[in-house]
Amino acid sequence: MQLKPLLERLYPLHRTLASDEMDEALQIVGAVMPSQAGYTVERFTPGEMAWTWRVPERYVVHEAYLETEDGRRIVDFADNPLHIVSYSPPVDALLTWEELEPHLYYSEERPWATPWIFKYYQRDWGFCLPKEVFDALPRKGRYRAVIRSEFLTDPARGGFAVGVGVIHPEGGPDPQAGEMLISAHLCHPMQANDDLAGVVTAIELAHRLAENPLPPGSMSVRFWFGPETIGTIVYLSHHEELIPRLKGGIFIEMTGNEGVIAWHHTRQHDHLLDQVTAAVMASREHVARKFADFPPNDERVINGPGVNVPCISINRWPYDEYHTTDDNPMIIQEAMLQEAADVVEEITRLYASNYIPRRTFRGPLFLSGNGLWVDWRENWALNRAIEKIMMRFEGEQSVFEIAQDVGLDYWMVRDYVEKFRLKGFVERLPIPSEAPAW
Ligand SMILES: [Zn+2]
Repeated sequence: MQLKPLLERLYPLHRTLASDEMDEALQIVGAVMPSQAGYTVERFTPGEMAWTWRVPERYVVHEAYLETEDGRRIVDFADNPLHIVSYSPPVDALLTWEELEPHLYYSEERPWATPWIFKYYQRDWGFCLPKEVFDALPRKGRYRAVIRSEFLTDPARGGFAVGVGVIHPEGGPDPQAGEMLISAHLCHPMQANDDLAGVVTAIELAHRLAENPLPPGSMSVRFWFGPETIGTIVYLSHHEELIPRLKGGIFIEMTGNEGVIAWHHTRQHDHLLDQVTAAVMASREHVARKFADFPPNDERVINGPGVNVPCISINRWPYDEYHTTDDNPMIIQEAMLQEAADVVEEITRLYASNYIPRRTFRGPLFLSGNGLWVDWRENWALNRAIEKIMMRFEGEQSVFEIAQDVGLDYWMVRDYVEKFRLKGFVERLPIPSEAPAW
């Protein structure tokens, strides 16, 4: 599907940790997710514990503006939600320049743009504006700062929400195989690449997996949309039963700007998911970089202490417009979104369909007697690899690792191993969970 028009629909909403327009965004996502996903919005009660955190309050801004004392308006929340610090508490005060200045935020690097600043936890009110506007403000005279905001804790007012849908493989869910988690965050107000780009890329992946399902016995793929970091903490802390079922995750963000795809490895570093990702990246023409360091994100929750689901991140970081008004649909390219969807699709298909074959037979298998011999005139490479593949049915290596070892295409090897399985010579062991015992 076309992704940029969808991104443009979500872009103008005042999306934040929890708000009416965040709900609207979650609803739009639900309306465009494939129906097979059974997408639902789940709500949580503000103030409740979420491991060592608390479920955030819902944020309402009735109006907010900064004016000179004589009524000249400098910035207005109605023009752009980035003009206030996200989660600013209310204020209505007449202030001198000296009193106002500590509450003003601008970007040195992009003096024409308004930065996005948030103070979710160490709360303080503030206004954000271009440095050019800041520089031109008179230092004499007084300013009127008005933010009429509210923090709602009553769950009847909407609470804190995330959206979730699951696409199952052909033949329905396989409890042994478990699930893969695809995560993208919706919470940055008026930011296009960070991370509506990741959201629409994930939606595209959901459509591709619905139209062309993973083979029977594969992992199900769970799609998660909500507020970055705290949303994942709230969701997983309320669904601890999911953790052992999750075999891997991809955190997708910043996929729409011009730039190469980059990926960040799992906390395990050399997990099967890292090997799959490295192989997918190596097979593509564009250069992918692997980071040693990256700011902590949802993959650090998913792959974090006591959870430990191997999780990579896929993005086109860095980009100059990051966390400013310049991160808008102008920098988003349909081709970049689609290419990112291609990459995550390939990783997902490989990782979610992979399993560990374990033999049930003894002695050399009578191949031709069981229709398992491969004619060298039809597939010379596979014919040469038969013995090597059969020697690796010890319940230790996954199909992907066997394919890597013998230097053949994953899907060719998988098709071949499936023939053994369907004859009862191999049983399918799932990719193990990395979840710690609790
Ligand atoms: Zn961000």
